[in-house]
Amino acid sequence: MDLSKLVRKNILDLKPYSCARDEFKGEASVFVDANENPFDTGLNRYPDPLQNTLKATIAKVKNVNAANIFIGNGSDEPIDLIYRVFCEPCINNVVAIDPTYGMYKVCADINNVAYRSVPLSDNFELVAEELLRKVDANTKVIWLCSPNNPTGNLLNEQEIETVLNAFEGIVVIDEAYIDFSGKESWNRRLSEYPHLIVLQTFSKAWGCAAIRLGMAFASEEIVQTLNKVKYPYNINILTQKQALERLSNVEMLNSHVTYILKQREWLKNELEQLPIVEKVYGSDANFLLVKVKNANKTYDYLAANGIIVRNRNNVTLCANCLRITIGLVRENELLIGALKKFSGNR
Ligand SMILES: *Cc1c(COP(=O)(O)O)cnc(C)c1O
Repeated sequence: MDLSKLVRKNILDLKPYSCARDEFKGEASVFVDANENPFDTGLNRYPDPLQNTLKATIAKVKNVNAANIFIGNGSDEPIDLIYRVFCEPCINNVVAIDPTYGMYKVCADINNVAYRSVPLSDNFELVAEELLRKVDANTKVIWLCSPNNPTGNLLNEQEIETVLNAFEGIVVIDEAYIDFSGKESWNRRLSEYPHLIVLQTFSKAWGCAAIRLGMAFASEEIVQTLNKVKYPYNINILTQKQALERLSNVEMLNSHVTYILKQREWLKNELEQLPIVEKVYGSDANFLLVKVKNANKTYDYLAANGIIVRNRNNVTLCANCLRITIGLVRENELLIGALKKFSGNR
């Protein structure tokens, strides 16, 4: 891979902003280089712009090299940066599966980059050949999401591999839900595929949606290029500290995942017995996609009873589908109770 052929020329030529903490790294007794307030409020110093302590810890927990980690303000930041780094507005295009996570299209629209979507098969499977048919000389990025949102399934490994082998631009695999899937991350394959970017997040299994922390795993070259373009202090110190604390307690993540997977089974089984439910799709994530007789009416009934699910009725291949996040036992029971009542009323 020749990254210089993929990166926009203005980004290749960019001389990034050099902040005080870039220019001097290390120990010293007096720091009067960044115009900070000298009084120790606990927060008076700028955070590490490259989050080295946090990356070293993530590297250990995830068993990857720290140099292959980019950290962003949620996954939203690397998603947007990938457009800004690789896609020339009005010229380049990206290819994505449909249905999938909405941010890929929103960021394409913001950056004025054409977004080409390719429907998954009827059972929500990726068909590499069809995806690749939409690729042309101006295609810079392919967006994949596995397990996919809102369908919940892992995409077929062979099909992903076909895409990785055939496409010479950037392939993104968004693994926001990987911890619920029992599958190994594609970040194991970074050395094999230098054009691969794997996204993960603290927002789901790690239980930290509020701190806004996303990770991109990629070749050192790609990570360095993303670093050039990001805001200098994109991850605040409160977020870095909280993330370190969560990373020190992997047992909590594991126990949450175990609980959620058990509840996913229970909820699927309960839903399948309801007469208004036509199908509960298999899930490798922390939610279920459920086809009901009438999604709008079911949604309205639940909302009127204080239970909010995600109505995916208007999404490709998802007519009359609701996306339901696995909650606590009590919440799942309330949901099933309300749906039983709704079924009985009809
Ligand atoms: C929830 C989700 C994310 C998480 O985004 P953050 O900005 O990290 O909170 C990323 N990708 C997909 C597919 C998601 O469903």
